[in-house]
Amino acid sequence: MAIIGRSEFDGTVLVAGLGASGRAVKGLLEKYGVKCETFDEKAEADFSDPRSVDWSNISAAVVSPGFSPDSKLVRTIEDNHVPLMSEVEFAWKTRPRDREGRSIPWVGVTGTNGKTTTVKMITKIFQKCGLKVAEGGNTGFPLTLACREEGAQIVVVELSSAQLHFTRSLALEVAVWTNFADDHLDWHRSLEEYRLDKARIFENAKRAIVYNAEDPVTAAAAKSAKVNLGCMEVGFSLKRPAPAQVGVDEDWIFDNAFAYGRICSLDSLSHLKIAGRVPSHRVQNALAACAASLAMGAKPEKVAEALSKFKPEEHRLEESAEIRKGGGKVEFIDDSKATNPASALAALSSLEGKGIVWIVGGETKGCNMSPMLKEARGKVKRAVLMGKDRAEFAKALQEIQIPFDEVEDEEGAAAMKKAVALAFATAEPGDVVLLAPACASKDQFRDMAERGEKFTEFAKALESGPRE
Ligand code: ADP
Repeated sequence: MAIIGRSEFDGTVLVAGLGASGRAVKGLLEKYGVKCETFDEKAEADFSDPRSVDWSNISAAVVSPGFSPDSKLVRTIEDNHVPLMSEVEFAWKTRPRDREGRSIPWVGVTGTNGKTTTVKMITKIFQKCGLKVAEGGNTGFPLTLACREEGAQIVVVELSSAQLHFTRSLALEVAVWTNFADDHLDWHRSLEEYRLDKARIFENAKRAIVYNAEDPVTAAAAKSAKVNLGCMEVGFSLKRPAPAQVGVDEDWIFDNAFAYGRICSLDSLSHLKIAGRVPSHRVQNALAACAASLAMGAKPEKVAEALSKFKPEEHRLEESAEIRKGGGKVEFIDDSKATNPASALAALSSLEGKGIVWIVGGETKGCNMSPMLKEARGKVKRAVLMGKDRAEFAKALQEIQIPFDEVEDEEGAAAMKKAVALAFATAEPGDVVLLAPACASKDQFRDMAERGEKFTEFAKALESGPRE
């Protein structure tokens, strides 16, 4: 096979999970005449039970992150000694190359939080530099398609830990790891496995690895990573940067790795500000993006220009409504994408000094909420609990004496309507009602976007309702 050129694709390939990525893999295999069979609960799939598959006939399996390492399918694949890979690995192995065997560079980002924001920042910077950028991976667009985009000069890829789990040969030009904290413990067998999967991002990196100098897990992984000869290690830090770091000096993003010095002032990052300043976690993302793009040769003025225009995506600390109350206003902030404790804590810290009424809860995914809740004391006036695992929050909040209201189990929209009304009833003029659930949304909503949309819809509806 011209594109494939690898023995594992000589026989029949099993594509498991017929989401966008699975369909892209199937499409590519078929285009090149590789026989493929499909596995999914969907009726269109060839199989939905691992026992029905003739494993002696399967030369490789491309499996979506929907199947965890403990799923029946993955166990059966392993028992049958069939090579197993993620769509990322498949896309990498089958990426287009020129006559000399070269392919366009891939820049990748992982981390518990900040992946999408950092990916989008890097993309904007490269576009400012005049490059045609293909973006894909965990942001939603299959990498198998992204790396084949007509005229693309660089691929920017978001990588989740689940995607990295079955990825082995990927060799990124620049690899970024933003941070590490509790998450997805319902998918990975342990926190250590989650860490090991994230650490794969640095393996085989060619030009630079970018780590968070204030996060000991990413910093240690950078030190021990097996990278290509000559690959730089670049740290980012909220402090004055040490050599080989990008950091913050006198409120400027300052490069001490590539000898450019001042890049841009924090004040120029207008769209990243909340309550008049850029919160630390957004500064960290900008630093990571800056380090990665400078490593790829971006000009510092292009970095500054792109970052100064950058707006975060929806549902990430988004100001969604302002409702009059008692001669003042109550602000509503949608951070539905805060799906783990570390990101919810970042939201609470961003609003330091404000009176916060906090809507929290959903599916904890096995994360430990205690450290976040302890930090929440002193930052939160009152909480409104919703979702499947709210009892865990209720117990902890009682212990640390944060007052709260509870919304009983209901369908998502009805529950959110009550949560918004309860939060507004206790909020005082000048306060913020913050949706930062620290949890996944699927117990009550289609996804985090729907949860955020409902929050905003019911907040806006308060404008036309009775004024207390
Ligand atoms: P991811 O793609 O990793 O989920 P996003 O950029 O989409 O990251 O942001 C997800 C959530 O994490 C949002 O609530 C956002 O405000 C928060 N967040 C973004 N960057 C960071 C960071 N560096 N540290 C902690 N939280 C962050």
